[in-house]
Parts: sequence; structure tokens; C-alpha cells
Amino acid sequence: MGLFSKIKNGLKKTGAGFMEKVGSVLSSFRKIDEELFEELEETLILCDIGAATSVKICDILRERVKEQKVDDPTLIRGMLKDIIFEMLNGDNSLDVGTSPTVIMVIGVNGVGKTTSIGKMAANFKAQGKLVVLGAADTFRAAAIDQLAIWADRAGVPMVKSVEGTDPASVVFDTMASATAKKADVIICDTAGRLHNKKNLMDELAKMNRVIDKSLANGKKETLLVLDAATGQNAVNQARQFSEVTDITGIILTKLDGTAHGGVVITIMDELGIPVKLIGVGEQIDDLMPFDAREFADGLFPDEV
Ligand code: GDP
Ligand code: GDP
Ligand code: MG
Repeated sequence: MGLFSKIKNGLKKTGAGFMEKVGSVLSSFRKIDEELFEELEETLILCDIGAATSVKICDILRERVKEQKVDDPTLIRGMLKDIIFEMLNGDNSLDVGTSPTVIMVIGVNGVGKTTSIGKMAANFKAQGKLVVLGAADTFRAAAIDQLAIWADRAGVPMVKSVEGTDPASVVFDTMASATAKKADVIICDTAGRLHNKKNLMDELAKMNRVIDKSLANGKKETLLVLDAATGQNAVNQARQFSEVTDITGIILTKLDGTAHGGVVITIMDELGIPVKLIGVGEQIDDLMPFDAREFADGLFPDEV
């Protein structure tokens, strides 16, 4: 499957749900009036777009309808698509142009951290980058084994220790190995942590100090992984994590299995954190750069 159809496919459920709900509102109005805007606003909220963002979208729409003297409700669909595209459009790229770039991958359990690391490793390697993985989720032995499988698949080296080792010491070893190898990209897996668990956040801070110390001319990214299927809960996680640590971007996984893709809009608009990558499946090539145009197109499929 080509890149474009993969994204399209990954957004199928979200797009179908979105057009079913929004489409039925739009088709039930013969003229554009205040009632339409109000119903649309409520419907956007049902599509996992937060209240503040839904209000904002409808305010912009109202203004444009007035300005352009639009009176045909069938034109709203295209206008809505443009507004959402403009909201999402920005610099969302995960830039690994600086060598070395260290990527810390954080998030709660089961969201897809380890899987996304495997996919990123394969992708960067294909771009000719020298990649090193660090197995700093030392909480369970199975977590280390799982990352090792991905390292094999991607064909990149991995630094590990045994279960129960201080993750900061694994990060230290990873940085040393990466420096010796002159690695371009270093990706560290971490244990599923909760933003409100003090010991876990302290542990993360310690890992960050280790990286900052050994990273003289490099760049650091902290990517928060969120499971799109958890809807507003994902938005809450983003909000809470961003209060306790600096997040440079989000990987939104499992878009393929959910209709909750609308959370992208809320995360970017309300929290101002760019969604940089999206997960659209379990295979190694199922991680895509976020593209505002493709996303907006995916929300408004031509045929449902
Ligand atoms: P972690 O606990 O955050 O490290 O999560 P894992 O990487 O172990 O992933 C948890 C589960 O989610 C695994 O079964 C993955 O195959 C699955 N998964 C991860 N990303 C995606 C995705 O984009 N789409 C789908 N369908 N499944 C995913
Ligand atoms: P609860 O189930 O909400 O009480 O949360 P837990 O205390 O079980 O922690 C949730 C997850 O955080 C666990 O599954 C682990 O992945 C991780 N975790 C908990 N405590 C530690 C710890 O001391 N170190 C590390 N690295 N991870 C931890
Ligand atoms: Mg994991």
C-alpha cells in the first residue's frame, strides 16, 4: 500500500464518523442560520474536538459565511475543511537533521511507545542515519525483550541492562555507546509512567539530566505517545504530562482502529503541542509524518 492510501485507510473510521455526524447536520438545513452553527458546534464536540476548539471553529466559520455572503449550506463542508486545515497546518516535522538527536519516548502503559520506537528506528535507518536504541524501560524483562525484537527488525543496535536497573544508568550507557559510534539518532524507550507518580517523574528527570550532560552539541526531543482510541483521555494525558515535563511533540497511535482521530485538532489547538507522527497499524512501516492536508482530507472523505 502506498503512503497516501495508508494514511487514508488509517483515517477511515475517523472520517466516516466525522462525515456521518457533521454531514447529517449540514444536510438537515436548507439555509444557514444561528441554529445550524449551534448544532454544528455540539456535533464537533461529539467528534472528539474539545469545546473551546469547537467554539473557535464555529466562530471563524460564522465570520467567513458573513464576509463571503454564503447562503448555501452545502458550501459549509468545504469551508469547515479549510478552517481545520489552517488550524493544523504548521511545522509538525520531526527533524533529526542535527546529529546527534536524542529522542526520549514517554507515555502511559500500552499506548505504543515501544512499537513506535521500532518503526522510527527503521525509518531513520532507511534515511541513512546511524540509529542506537536504549532500553530504559527496565521495569519488566519483557519490555527489554520486546524492544530487542524491534531493534532486530529495524537492524539497529540496542543498549540494554537487566530488569530493575536504574533507567538513568541505561540512558548513560546508551549515550556512551552512541557517542563512540558517532550515532545520528538515539531513541530511548521508557517505562509506562503516570504524570502524577512522583517517583516516576523523578526518574524521568534523572534520565533527562544524564542526557543533557552528555549532549553538548546535539538536540533533544521528548515525544509523548498517546493512544487515539482513548479519545478525550488522550487529550487529558497530553495536558497533564505537559504540565510536568517539556514535550516537543506527540506520536498519536492506533488511528487505524478508532473513530476518535478528532483529538488531533484539540491537542494541537488547545495545548499547542504538534502531533508529529501518527501510527496507523502494527507493522514496521505503519508510522507516518503528520500531514495537515491529508488529515483534513481524511476527515471529509468523498464517499462514506
Ligand atoms: P507501550 O507499552 O507504550 O510500549 O506499547 P507497545 O508498543 O507495547 O504497544 C501496545 C500495543 O499497541 C501492541 O499490541 C502494539 O502492536 C499496538 N500498537 C502500537 N501502535 C499501534 C498502531 O498505530 N496501530 C495499531 N493498530 N496498534 C498499535
Ligand atoms: P497504578 O496501577 O495506577 O497504581 O500504577 P503502578 O504503580 O502500577 O504503575 C503503572 C506503571 O508504571 C507500571 O506498570 C510500570 O510500567 C510503571 N512503574 C511503576 N512504578 C515504577 C518504578 O518504580 N519504576 C519504573 N521504571 N516504572 C514504574
Ligand atoms: Mg513498551
